[in-house]
Amino acid sequence: MRIGAGINAGLRKRIRGGVHPPDNKHLTADKPIIRMEAPELVTIPLRQHIGAPCSPRVDKGDRVLVGTVIGDSEAFVSAPVHSSVSGTVRGIAPHPHPAGGESPAVIIENDGRYERDPSLQPLEWENMEPEDIRRAVREAGMVGLGGAAFPTHVKLAPPKEFPIDTVILNGAECEPFLTADYRLMLEHTEEVVEGLRIIMKAVGAPRAIIAVEDNKPLAVRRLAEVVRDPAIELRTLRTRYPQGAEKVLITNLLGREVPSGGLPMHVGVVVNNVGTARAITSYFRTGLPLVERVVTVTGSVIREPSNLLVPLGTSFAAAVEACGGFMSHPAKVIMGGPMMGLAQYTLEVPVVKGTSGILALSDEEAAYEIPREPVCIRCGRCVEACPMNLVPTYLAAFSHREKWDEARRLNINDCIECGCCTYTCPTRNPIVQLIKFGKAELARLKAAEERRAREREAAGQQGG
Ligand code: SF4
Ligand code: SF4
Repeated sequence: MRIGAGINAGLRKRIRGGVHPPDNKHLTADKPIIRMEAPELVTIPLRQHIGAPCSPRVDKGDRVLVGTVIGDSEAFVSAPVHSSVSGTVRGIAPHPHPAGGESPAVIIENDGRYERDPSLQPLEWENMEPEDIRRAVREAGMVGLGGAAFPTHVKLAPPKEFPIDTVILNGAECEPFLTADYRLMLEHTEEVVEGLRIIMKAVGAPRAIIAVEDNKPLAVRRLAEVVRDPAIELRTLRTRYPQGAEKVLITNLLGREVPSGGLPMHVGVVVNNVGTARAITSYFRTGLPLVERVVTVTGSVIREPSNLLVPLGTSFAAAVEACGGFMSHPAKVIMGGPMMGLAQYTLEVPVVKGTSGILALSDEEAAYEIPREPVCIRCGRCVEACPMNLVPTYLAAFSHREKWDEARRLNINDCIECGCCTYTCPTRNPIVQLIKFGKAELARLKAAEERRAREREAAGQQGG
């Protein structure tokens, strides 16, 4: 069925696997995005994306402006980091990172003047070559804002042997509680759609699909009013987690399977989040790089759950304070949503490019007893729930027993860490946690093996 500017409502088919947790979006769905003042000190990590972290490009005592590059890297899979305030660099030091561990971070004392770097100028993407658009996207420090934080310019530069025929704009926002993308689709619809057109030009794609879950009818209606290009199709998807996962979306929308170990480009597709598209437009229109993002601050213990536009480097504590603080002590604070988010041990961690949400859960909500030893009653629910057609119970068991060959044979690296298996398990096995551990161990073993091979090669060259 086609409606208006091309809404295809006939594709609400059920995804393979998946679950339907309570979405709890009512806490913030009607809360317009409000800009938050940056605190007196911002702490901006130099690790903000997948790939090579940045090295500092400023020193203690330097004056910086909004948009000044404070970190960069020569590596292709990387993106520069910019200051979100004007002020003075107070130091560069390791700081707790919301994705885990510590990262060197640039600490800037905010002078409250928000002076912009005068070199930042708008760009007319319509008159630019695709290569120049990609370069500009890199200079903007753009990464995937859906949470994955993969450098966008890399996604927009697939090798020639993998031509892109379709761009998918991901507005599914299937994680419970989060409404940042929903508000962007409602309040910044034109920018979202223009960002999609910029992406289409950058990758040379003749068509695009905007995908939105059917629990967001207002966003679908707004998009339908704005989309005028016949090359862009708007599709509603049945609400089911993890509908918004890249590979799930591609299968559901196009019937294409990304091969094991492959990427969307291997089936002619690039997937970008609606927040990324809006941020790209904002850069081309204003010249201001990625220095702030929308964060849903929510959960039953937050006094005023909100969608905040937060300067990067703002502490979680300051963002929570801007929402009236906690009503009671939270049992757990998570970066992102409850399914794929990361639990935090301190609120001093800063908002980074990948922070889609700050979720504070009460004792009752966070109560989840994990058994000391995983017990499997072989009910098969985790297998049924897995959208990637994996056998989660075996993957968890092999990770637990460190049987790496077996885990590899069952494609452990194809796990998208959606957590559906753990959510459905009646014996509360920490399945996804064990799988994550297994994937990390395999990556570590692979890196060690590669290092040994390089050392052997170097020793052979010296000997020969
Ligand atoms: S095995 Fe991975 S992909 Fe499958 S349900 Fe569990 S977390 Fe999701
Ligand atoms: S859901 Fe839990 S109990 Fe059931 S098969 Fe999977 S791991 Fe075993």
